[in-house]
Amino acid sequence: MSSKLLIKENHSLLTYNTFNLDTTARRFIELTNSEEIECFIQSEFANNRILILGGGSNLLLLNDFDGIVVHLSNKGIHVISESGDDVIIECSAGEICDDVVSFCVENKFYGIENLALIPGTIGAAPIQNIGAYGVEIKDILQSVEGFDLITREKRILTVSECELDYRSSIFKTNLKGRFLITKVKLRLSRKKKFHLNYRALNEKFGRRSVDIIRIEDVSSYIKKIRTEKLPDYKVLGNAGSFFKNPEVSPEELSELKNQHHDIVSFATSAGTYKIAAGWLIEECGFKGKRIGNVSCYEKQALVIVNHGGATGKEIKEYSERIQGAVKNKFGIILMPEVNII
Ligand SMILES: Cc1cc2nc3c(=O)[nH]c(=O)nc-3n(C[C@H](O)[C@H](O)[C@H](O)COP(=O)(O)OP(=O)(O)OC[C@H]3O[C@@H](n4cnc5c(N)ncnc54)[C@H](O)[C@@H]3O)c2cc1C
Repeated sequence: MSSKLLIKENHSLLTYNTFNLDTTARRFIELTNSEEIECFIQSEFANNRILILGGGSNLLLLNDFDGIVVHLSNKGIHVISESGDDVIIECSAGEICDDVVSFCVENKFYGIENLALIPGTIGAAPIQNIGAYGVEIKDILQSVEGFDLITREKRILTVSECELDYRSSIFKTNLKGRFLITKVKLRLSRKKKFHLNYRALNEKFGRRSVDIIRIEDVSSYIKKIRTEKLPDYKVLGNAGSFFKNPEVSPEELSELKNQHHDIVSFATSAGTYKIAAGWLIEECGFKGKRIGNVSCYEKQALVIVNHGGATGKEIKEYSERIQGAVKNKFGIILMPEVNII
């Protein structure tokens, strides 16, 4: 059966990761449909060390990968059921996340528009529970389908079984590296409702009546803000926010505020506070600070960029300098959001 699979040897990953790192996979396979996926799962290749790859926009590759890189590029977005205002769509994992957003915007399916222009595939969206502008995939995810790479069984996980949390899920904990997501189902609404609490959105749309706000205006505005704020990875390699925003208790926050009056924080629904990691990094002098071919982006310190020719190890060393400086100045340990491989 595995003879049907096209395995490439020593395949360059340069165009498969948004940090633009010039690394190689010892073996590489592209899976474009369900038959190829099932064939791969049943093959001897599934015994290898595996790296599942979507758009490569949340990865830092330190070395050549001495195993098999499985690139998911299966496509398809379908409405599979409708009930009352709810619409359930099923998306193949290799669909580009922003194409799924566009599909929903065109069809006026509300709920996902704030996630416009996040790079990568929809299959990777549950891995770190992607989020932006007050919405997380958790808010609209219905279920995830895929294969357990150890038992080789097909499984469907409901949203609660995915254990989605801030930039985390079961796929980063108990099922880390052993679950290949092949499809996701999303639950959207035909009824007009928006999430406009995020400050920039509130300033733009907050005073308008919902009746006159259009879904395409919200998604276009988010695209505009993102394009202005974030570097284009085709020009300056990056993986978006490098670190998570650290979470502290109200007591810890007030202690921090005693020493750093202008610290930037946000209340969470759990009664804790998130500190803006970008602010901490900026306070340590890293915004725009270049070491070799690596720096923090000049407009957003939370994004580490490759000016060209940097290695994964150089980027990791740079990130460790940031962690050291933030720990010294604030006593806070920054945890990477990016998957370091
Ligand atoms: C400019 C920029 C802006 C960004 N902005 C945001 C943002 O606003 N919010 C946000 O949350 N993220 C953001 N990101 C991070 C990134 O876009 C998301 O994490 C995205 O979901 C990664 O998708 P991907 O397909 O590129 O995953 P990859 O980078 O290919 O993989 C990421 C992880 O998921 C695993 N994986 C990928 N596909 C599958 C699958 N089908 N089954 C199982 N495991 C899989 C990989 O093994 C890896 O561990 C940004 C990145 C960039 C470059």
